[in-house]
Amino acid sequence: MASQRGVLVITGGSRGIGAATAFAAAKDGWSVAVNYRANEKAAQSVVEQVRDEGGEAIAVKGDVAESDDIKRLFGEADRLGTLRGLVNNAGIVGEKQRVDEMSAERLERMMRVNVIASFLCAQEAVQRMSRRHGGEGGSIVNVSSVASRLGSAGEYVDYAASKGAIDTFTLGLAREVAEEGIRVNAVRPGIIDTEIHASGGQPDRIERVRPMIPMKREGKAEEVAQTIVWLLSEQSSYVTGAFLDVSGGR
Ligand code: NAP
Repeated sequence: MASQRGVLVITGGSRGIGAATAFAAAKDGWSVAVNYRANEKAAQSVVEQVRDEGGEAIAVKGDVAESDDIKRLFGEADRLGTLRGLVNNAGIVGEKQRVDEMSAERLERMMRVNVIASFLCAQEAVQRMSRRHGGEGGSIVNVSSVASRLGSAGEYVDYAASKGAIDTFTLGLAREVAEEGIRVNAVRPGIIDTEIHASGGQPDRIERVRPMIPMKREGKAEEVAQTIVWLLSEQSSYVTGAFLDVSGGR
């Protein structure tokens, strides 16, 4: 199936919300560059599944904390065709800690992966998609979190603050490139059933938080993916600088 929509880069596209977005976007006609950091098997399995369903996808290994890896990611994506979309999805949480316990190394890694990488990826995307630079326009979706307005006290305030930065980045970049054919929006997931909770040392987090969710259930990665794909598409042509909470009311 030839790409109808152009090329889409998804950082952290190999598992969780990123993988669900790769499947949904490929179904919607995007050619997808699936970035991952370490788990090659998961990335290859996403690519194979997309191809089995007639879509186009490649896997690109790279740590978004490294600016050279980001440049290589976009270089590989260029080989697929014209870039028209970016999902800044790769993100990490740390172990549960109070602010007065957090090391400088932890804070630096958190901000590098969750914030600076999104700036650097957006830079690459704007340089290719902006009409100011001879591009054809496009759409950027940043994956924030409801943590940006909740603060995550006693759990991971650094993560929440990194997502607060993503919200402000979304607003500012959206206004900066609005005239140039690029829309920039954010989704703010609530509690979504992925491996991120276990990666932060809290495999029971979903069970613990579920009673506090107005809908009394966690979300599925696919439910976030559908929202992202809508924001990428022309269906949302007059939406920019917006935050869409996908959180069951939380
Ligand atoms: P996940 O299941 O832990 O998956 C993370 C993905 O990001 C994997 O594909 C991983 O690749 C990749 N990744 C991690 N660090 C990376 C790096 N430095 N460079 C490149 N890729 C990297 O996470 P998720 O739950 O889907 O979360 C995705 C996004 O949604 C994050 O920004 C997160 O903050 C946000 N979010 C999630 C929730 C939730 O409840 N799940 C709620 C709110 C917001 P490897 O496997 O190769 O490491």
